[in-house]
Amino acid sequence: MKLSERRLWLTIDSDDIRHLPRYQGHPLRSRHPLPMDCTKSDPSPKLKIGMEGFSRWFAEAGEVTLFLIADQLDSVDFKNWLKPMLDTGRLRIASHGNTHRSWAAWPEDVEGFTAELQIATKRLKEFSGEAWRPWFRAPAGYIAPWMAQVLSKLGYVVDSSVNPSALLKRKTGHGNNWNKVVAAMKNNGLVERQWLTKKVLGLSLPSCGPALHKTFLKSISRRQWLSQSSLEHATDSDIEDSDAEIVTVYWHLLDHARNSGKWLPPL
Ligand SMILES: [Zn+2]
Repeated sequence: MKLSERRLWLTIDSDDIRHLPRYQGHPLRSRHPLPMDCTKSDPSPKLKIGMEGFSRWFAEAGEVTLFLIADQLDSVDFKNWLKPMLDTGRLRIASHGNTHRSWAAWPEDVEGFTAELQIATKRLKEFSGEAWRPWFRAPAGYIAPWMAQVLSKLGYVVDSSVNPSALLKRKTGHGNNWNKVVAAMKNNGLVERQWLTKKVLGLSLPSCGPALHKTFLKSISRRQWLSQSSLEHATDSDIEDSDAEIVTVYWHLLDHARNSGKWLPPL
């Protein structure tokens, strides 16, 4: 495929503070009590700032995919915030799990993952209507090969969980690596949309999500995003077509709370 035929896919994850692995869902990292201003259902004050910032950005944006955590639909405020954006037809909704559990950090659990993903899929689909897409992103990027068969059984056709950097291999579970995840997705009929990275001295460095803010990585990530920003945006059929070359970038709704709500993705 020629450079001119590559397409850009804009994706954003909906995580609130309470979903972060430092607070829940991870066998080793979840060791901190939840900050006082975070409740189990309604958006935290910080996420609310992020939601407002995102809405302002989205008003001028094209098509965007939001990987949504199903338990956020417990909040009427959150749903009311999303609805007008769904009506624009420019916001696609995909699955970021039920409660943001880091599945691949735990021992293999096909039954547990199936049960939770079934709940999440049903809720997200019912809420999103025509905006729903059977696409998945693993919470906190923890994706193991065994998860592919569950995704396939529940009707998912695209996975976008792979951050193909050797630095983050641990996120694929014990004894695994990114190649094994990619092969498992392919064998189960899913198209894998890996996140944008930047090659430096032969090493792929992360440039999406938290990498946009880490001291050493942020300027590299920013430049890498800007170098792709003129690409035409991907359509649904591009994203689901394994032969199409897609540049996938992702950031967080909480990012829009940075700089007093003025943060924008480097595009
Ligand atoms: Zn997340």
